[in-house]
Amino acid sequence: MNKTVDVLIIGASASGLMCAIEAGKRGRNVVVLDHANKAGKKILMSGGGRCNFTNMDISADNYISHNPHFCKSALSRYTQWDFIALVCDYNIPYHERSHGQLFCDDSAKDILNMLLSECAHAGVDIRLNCSIENIHKENDRYIINTSLDDYSAESVVIASGGLSIPKMGATGFGYNIAKRFGHTVHPTTAGLVPFTLQPDDKAWLAELSGIAIECVVSNKRNSFRENILLTHRGLSGPAILQISSYWHAGETLSINLLPDVDIETLLKTKQQTQAKTHLKTILAEHLPKRFIAALLDEQLLNQPLQSISHDRFKTISKQLHQWQIKPNSTEGYRTAEVTLGGVNCDELSSKTMESNYSTGLYFVGEVVDVTGWLGGYNFQWAWSSGWCAGQVV
Ligand SMILES: Cc1cc2nc3c(=O)[nH]c(=O)nc-3n(C[C@H](O)[C@H](O)[C@H](O)COP(=O)(O)OP(=O)(O)OC[C@H]3O[C@@H](n4cnc5c(N)ncnc54)[C@H](O)[C@@H]3O)c2cc1C
Repeated sequence: MNKTVDVLIIGASASGLMCAIEAGKRGRNVVVLDHANKAGKKILMSGGGRCNFTNMDISADNYISHNPHFCKSALSRYTQWDFIALVCDYNIPYHERSHGQLFCDDSAKDILNMLLSECAHAGVDIRLNCSIENIHKENDRYIINTSLDDYSAESVVIASGGLSIPKMGATGFGYNIAKRFGHTVHPTTAGLVPFTLQPDDKAWLAELSGIAIECVVSNKRNSFRENILLTHRGLSGPAILQISSYWHAGETLSINLLPDVDIETLLKTKQQTQAKTHLKTILAEHLPKRFIAALLDEQLLNQPLQSISHDRFKTISKQLHQWQIKPNSTEGYRTAEVTLGGVNCDELSSKTMESNYSTGLYFVGEVVDVTGWLGGYNFQWAWSSGWCAGQVV
């Protein structure tokens, strides 16, 4: 015998819980199913355990999608200020970091507990450890067969996220359901993810593991100024994660290691005033010594400025302002924060997130082809898209 519900949501994390809260508040009978043994695992692991839950400055420019306009409606209907107001209602202490990023002072648990408490007030039933076996439509209702119960629902919301961090329960479930109901899915790739390096680069850079440098990292499509971090596996740090979402396999990145200094001019000036000073001494004022020693020729570094030609200064400048690095690959979904691509936005309502092909079917959060930058943008998309669906399901 099917259990009859108004709204069945698959995925008990950021977007699914937000949708459930809103639908529950409207008096809808809502059940949320998740195959994980805990709700909101990604919320708990986010922002290094402090959840970067939104950003002070949100616009469509912070998102990647084949339809760059799609996210505008949801982001303007449920904004960062709405979410911040909710966080304040719960007296959750938070702080702002660089680039407008808002983090919990204490723990990401505060955000998850807030959402679970809102769900409880709204009468939402969350059922964990539940495998979804089949979904089909029968006479305008969805029949959902699961390992726990079979349900008949008026609306089904797919909030099952993307493919990143399979260890945390990520699956391609949402994409498969989308295809089954006639949707196209843009090819997916790992985003906000560290790079692995070609063997030659890996050999010398691994030695420098732990060094962080503020840089501008660019490719043809975008440019980010933040730290890069050298690791024993390759390149990481916020600037690298950001550009990874814009990177195409085989492409070379250009890294300006000295964004605030024109090193060629500086070296020419110092040649006049500190002619006997070694090149390495000047460079060490701007970059970590170990990094310079590994990047540039040792003999050159030990030369006094007076013996170095202006042509050589030009070459050094190019090496430091346009350091070229060709990643081997990314670390993939294993460590990626997000999944690029997903359910084609052109086939969904930007106001409600409802499928254009199957009335009563909705897609929210990361499963949709909307991917945010690093900085709280992905959660804001989850809150906004979940909220919009929650108004109508
Ligand atoms: C390490 C890490 C740190 C991050 N930090 C931040 C941050 O600080 N700020 C930020 O904005 N973003 C961050 N993100 C991204 C953010 O977590 C996601 O964009 C966001 O969680 C997406 O929400 P969602 O509800 O769409 O999907 P998810 O949070 O991925 O939730 C999907 C849910 O669906 C369930 N599910 C999946 N498949 C099935 C299935 N077959 N059957 C049943 N249930 C299923 C999963 O168990 C999960 O509970 C981070 C991501 C990672 C991996």
